[in-house]
Amino acid sequence: MGKPTKTDVLIVGAGHAGAALACALRRKGFAGSIILSNDEAHLPYERPPLSKACLLGVPSIDKLLLREQDFWKRANIDILTGCRVAAIDPGRNVAKLGNGRSIQFSWCVLATGGRARALDCPGADLSGIYRLRTFDDMLALHDALSSAERLTVIGGGYIGLEVAATARALGKQVDVVETQSRVLSRSTSRVVSTFLENEHRRHGVRLHMERSIAAIEGEDRALTVQLSDGTCLFTDLVLAGIGIDAETALAEAAGIACHAGVLVDSAFRSSAPNVLAIGDCARHPNDFAGGLWRLESVQHAEDSANIAADTILGRTVSYHDVPAFWSDQYDFRLQSAGIAREADDMVVRGDTERGPFSVVYLREGRIIAIDAVNAPREFIAGRRLIAEGASVDRDRLADSGVPLRALA
Ligand SMILES: Cc1cc2nc3c(=O)[nH]c(=O)nc-3n(C[C@H](O)[C@H](O)[C@H](O)COP(=O)(O)OP(=O)(O)OC[C@H]3O[C@@H](n4cnc5c(N)ncnc54)[C@H](O)[C@@H]3O)c2cc1C
Repeated sequence: MGKPTKTDVLIVGAGHAGAALACALRRKGFAGSIILSNDEAHLPYERPPLSKACLLGVPSIDKLLLREQDFWKRANIDILTGCRVAAIDPGRNVAKLGNGRSIQFSWCVLATGGRARALDCPGADLSGIYRLRTFDDMLALHDALSSAERLTVIGGGYIGLEVAATARALGKQVDVVETQSRVLSRSTSRVVSTFLENEHRRHGVRLHMERSIAAIEGEDRALTVQLSDGTCLFTDLVLAGIGIDAETALAEAAGIACHAGVLVDSAFRSSAPNVLAIGDCARHPNDFAGGLWRLESVQHAEDSANIAADTILGRTVSYHDVPAFWSDQYDFRLQSAGIAREADDMVVRGDTERGPFSVVYLREGRIIAIDAVNAPREFIAGRRLIAEGASVDRDRLADSGVPLRALA
């Protein structure tokens, strides 16, 4: 084995968070060396279109790249694609790559994202069952969809609903199976869930609520999905959209504190000095939600990368960004800011049948979260009100004729 390569910053994972960190470091004037390693074979690319536009058209990685190919060279960021970091030793500041090489780092940043969960019902190992996290996953699903008539989506979360909407646009027959009594039950209120369910039904999706999967059956590939109530769905392929698990294997093996994510402080420092964690894999203290949270959104990947860059630059900073997320389905965009879980009141504004509308969530009279459907101005104003911790006049808030920005 040769001598280790030396670098000031080793970023493990070149998804939204890892790429954003490398860019933020350069933007903020960091002149040291940066290695960005990724076990995927591609340059950093956007994930949101994977469940939307990519499945509709002819997929091309070039259209998804977060930065054009030359950017990384110009910015003097050394990208290792198809290169897995196999282990890190925070005590010695050394990382071992899958190809046997070693890297000596001053800082190591874990931006390892998450792994799409696999089904664990009988028949879960049949072919014809897909997951969607990476560009290569999308290619496989795209190929399978092109010759399929019927798709069964397991899980009424963001990914499942987005793929269902896209598959309907392709004219496929779509069934969605959800164990809870409503879609997106962990992320939003019943008002928004009902709107989403109505939209999916209006577009011809068959929703099977409060059903789990008893078994998936077929000779060698999935042909039927048996539900817990005895319903049998005939299908050509299955998409499992049942969430992700944070990719914490490296951190755990290195003895770094993890609990459903890599545990970090508000500067994204892990329990090991000189090791940070950002993006989907990091469980951080969140001022807007209270307690420790792991957020899965592009916005959070970028916000956490920004703070980590300051931490590396020796600036004293603390994460205080309002969580934000969006989802595109059919002809509507749902934008959400804040975390509504602790709300004790909510106000609905607009037309919940067809949109646009928003739902504003309050706690002790202060706005803590908003969901906005085809209402981008409401979303922007709502996000500002959340950041300010604003108390508002409830009667004016309930008057949809008064724009949210007028309440700021
Ligand atoms: C289909 C889809 C649609 C989405 N739509 C939206 C949306 O509409 N809006 C939104 O806000 N968010 C959306 N998201 C979520 C968003 O993409 C994620 O929150 C974001 O990608 C998180 O960035 P990350 O860098 O933390 O993780 P990732 O983007 O997952 O990147 C982590 C990278 O690290 C690599 N890696 C892991 N371990 C190692 C290792 N040991 N060595 C080297 N590399 C490693 C992984 O292969 C991966 O490439 C969507 C996600 C998916 C999958």
